Amino acid sequence: MTASQNWPECRNTPRDVQTRLLLINPRFPESFWSFRWAIDSVLPNKRTVNPPLGLATVAALSPADWQIEIIDENIESIPLKPAADIIGVCGMGVQFRRQKELLSYYRGLGYYVVAGGSYASLCPERYDTLADTVVAGEAEYIWKEFCRDYEAGNPRGLYQEKGVVSLEDSPTPRFDLLKLSRYTNISLQFSRGCPFRCEFCDIIVMFGRKPRTKSCEQVGRELDALRALGAHNVFFVDDNFIGDKNIAKKLLRHLADYQRENDYQFQFGTEASLNLAQDEELLTLLPEANFAWVFIGIESPDEESLKETKKFQNTREDILTSVRQIYAHGLDIFAGFIIGFDNDTLSTFDRQYRFIVDSGIQVAMVGLLTALPKTPLYERLEAEGRLLPGADGTDNTSVGTNFVPKQIEYDTLVREYKRLYQRLLQPSAIAARIQNKMRYMRNPHHQPLYPMRTLLGIMAKFAWRGVLKGGPRRMLQFARTLATARLPQIPLVFSDWIAALSMKEFAERHLLIRKHNAQTATAAHIDKLRNSFRSYVQQGRVRIQMEQGNISLRLQGFVDSAFYRKASRAIHDLLDNTTSTVTLHVEDFHEEQRQHWNRLLHRLRRDGDRIYVSASEKLKDLLEVDSSVFHLVLEPAA
Ligand code: SF4
Repeated sequence: MTASQNWPECRNTPRDVQTRLLLINPRFPESFWSFRWAIDSVLPNKRTVNPPLGLATVAALSPADWQIEIIDENIESIPLKPAADIIGVCGMGVQFRRQKELLSYYRGLGYYVVAGGSYASLCPERYDTLADTVVAGEAEYIWKEFCRDYEAGNPRGLYQEKGVVSLEDSPTPRFDLLKLSRYTNISLQFSRGCPFRCEFCDIIVMFGRKPRTKSCEQVGRELDALRALGAHNVFFVDDNFIGDKNIAKKLLRHLADYQRENDYQFQFGTEASLNLAQDEELLTLLPEANFAWVFIGIESPDEESLKETKKFQNTREDILTSVRQIYAHGLDIFAGFIIGFDNDTLSTFDRQYRFIVDSGIQVAMVGLLTALPKTPLYERLEAEGRLLPGADGTDNTSVGTNFVPKQIEYDTLVREYKRLYQRLLQPSAIAARIQNKMRYMRNPHHQPLYPMRTLLGIMAKFAWRGVLKGGPRRMLQFARTLATARLPQIPLVFSDWIAALSMKEFAERHLLIRKHNAQTATAAHIDKLRNSFRSYVQQGRVRIQMEQGNISLRLQGFVDSAFYRKASRAIHDLLDNTTSTVTLHVEDFHEEQRQHWNRLLHRLRRDGDRIYVSASEKLKDLLEVDSSVFHLVLEPAA
């Protein structure tokens, strides 16, 4: 059913080879962060944004004679029967659902499964029955301990790091095991931890408030490894790159030298706190080391909300002044915003909108406040009895939250949230932001790293698929931004439009479905489907059902090419006009249908994140389903 055929099934058979470790990064639910439209429609040969750096580090911590493979389900299909002894599955909170499915599936087949990643570190107790071993916390010491115990034949159920890990003990990640060319950025880590104490933050729960860093030489070695592999765009995935400003400055000087010696091969980006704006030296050193952008948690332009959440570092000066100060050094800003603080009211939406437009921040990731387990926010809301039952806060990409908001009614909060994005993603708001940014960023440091030919291809695809297809309003606004930009600003104008249209496309497919009454729309589409496929239904070859907002098409007898042709149109129509998902249950399949099946999936790729595919056990080896595109339903073995 997947690309698993190249893995011989030799598990549990006697052999003389080393331990075989398969590490899997489960598929993320699609979100604004996916930039899916840019990746599918504009950028060449990319599949997702960042590689699983944690797995490359775990691979480097494993014994040298182990055979290791990394599968990232965000770029490739998972193998159904891998030749592996141990299968390690990592995951953040948003990946928990898929991580659980993968662990149960492989464990059911008899593999030794290990759970790890940030969510297992935060809530190891949630994995008690899911994995043979849970690795909770930073891996540097405990993963080695697990490997030793595994080889000795007595691994424990839980390895939990309770002490402090020195990052100087962290090895150069096995970048060579990642398919780097398929990512837009390559991740690197310099520090862990952050000195601040934002109430909602799980980072400080996991990594503490005293930043720990790698040495400059270590970072240099990691860059050497990436240089050898031809990487260019590097994202320092630190919790807060400037958590310890003095050490950050030391690294930046080292990086500036490194870049000079190596023809500025890398363009960097990172995450930092807003107090960056008040440090002139840091603002000068970052572009000198070829940093082009920083992600900043701005959260709210409302000082009372910031104080409520203990984000005092954002209250030191007017935020708009801080943003412009950073722009003045040629650094672009991506930013996170949150709505749903107790202090927030309906007027907060307007305030956020005004601020985002005035500040010119194009990659503005607005989320509803969510209480992540173990955070001070979670504990406070729990004590106040405001946590919603069953909402565990793991999926912070869905529209909603897991507690009762104080001053805004829940449904209003969700409705206004959608409306905020609808306004932000209007062509005029996109253009206004670009112009507001360019007014203060005279010389952006951002430079495209593609060769000229590729760049022209990107621009042509963007012009056709992004600008012309958007109609006269979009064309006009795009022209307006180009006409007012100076030559060095042009690449950033393009890249802001590409980012904005990616976010718009996501919002239109997931947030802003046109039908107001989704349930009525889904019921109407069910009737339409039953009519279109009446003869197949009457003959018992196809069954169409609706189950909790999901439409299931059960293929239980032979269906011909006409069915497959109609099915792709009908499913597109349904997904475009409802909030429903679709499950294709395949219970009957013949070799001669393969071509039609493959063509159907090819046509449905664009909506893959809303399509589930399930097949009976005997058909799994026959069907090809790319689990990085569609939700491949994995039933645990009986
Ligand atoms: S600044 Fe960022 S990393 Fe630091 S505590 Fe606040 S949210 Fe967490």
